[in-house]
Amino acid sequence: MTKSCVVCKRKGIVYIPYARASFCREHFIEFYNRKILRTLRNSGFKSGKILVGVSGGKDSVSLLYALSVIRKEMNLEIEALHINLGIGRYSLESYNAVKKLEKILPDIRFHYFDLRELGFTIPEVVKAIKRPACSVCGAVKRWILNKFAYEKGFEFIATGHNIDDISTFYLKALLTQRIEDIMRGPEPLTPGFPDLKLVGRIRPQFYLSEMENTLYATLQNLPFVDFPCPLARGATLFKYKNLWKEILSTNPVAQINFVKSIIAIKKRIPKETQKLKSCEICGYPTTAADGVCFVCRLRKKFGVL
Ligand code: SF4
Ligand code: ZN
Ligand code: ZN
Repeated sequence: MTKSCVVCKRKGIVYIPYARASFCREHFIEFYNRKILRTLRNSGFKSGKILVGVSGGKDSVSLLYALSVIRKEMNLEIEALHINLGIGRYSLESYNAVKKLEKILPDIRFHYFDLRELGFTIPEVVKAIKRPACSVCGAVKRWILNKFAYEKGFEFIATGHNIDDISTFYLKALLTQRIEDIMRGPEPLTPGFPDLKLVGRIRPQFYLSEMENTLYATLQNLPFVDFPCPLARGATLFKYKNLWKEILSTNPVAQINFVKSIIAIKKRIPKETQKLKSCEICGYPTTAADGVCFVCRLRKKFGVL
């Protein structure tokens, strides 16, 4: 059910239920860019040098492109970093997508990091230790992005988290009593701690859905890898994610309201003192009791340290 565009009255191509509005191609793109801009402004972000983590998936390619559109208005300096995780054909296609994006955005500097430089790939780590692939992969990517951003003087790292992932993360955390996860969970902006060599995070797509990101990437003819990572986390998370379909059919704003409520509640709870300390080996932040971060432990295990 796609009515005429709410802005220009031409034929709409998409209906956005939470906005109760249809848009034509041009005005959906405008709506999307405005939403990125508004999320940045409302998060308290002012301006600065941003490193965008670009995996080659629909979320991050849309993010980089939209940031490039609004960069003058927000006075942003943007560069991109792609990490090759060594996950077979998936990583190869992701890399190819990012290389194509680099051609589309010639005035943005792209950097590439191959995980093999650390002495391992994600499939090798998953084989060697008993931890879910995405948890390993997430920790390694965070370490690389943070180190790179810190060394090159970036003020923030921008990542392509969307409302479907964020709301599912909080829903699962609530339903499984993972209070620590809720307290540590994502927000549109997380400030950095320069003393601990921790660079701040922004998530400009915090209130945008997977569908909106995919549509934006498609309408803008952006290259992206269009098949899932073979190591993607198991069925449980997808089951939780699917619960949203039912809820959203009753209340289209439920997902956004849910996340906003969690963040409002978190604000009223006194924050525990930061348990972060500097890794004894690399000097980057860790919560590990023995003072050695996860990546340094992996490097030791793989005989690189
Ligand atoms: Fe890494 Fe999991 Fe994403 Fe695959 S699905 S790239 S393992 S975080
Ligand atoms: Zn229109
Ligand atoms: Zn370390």
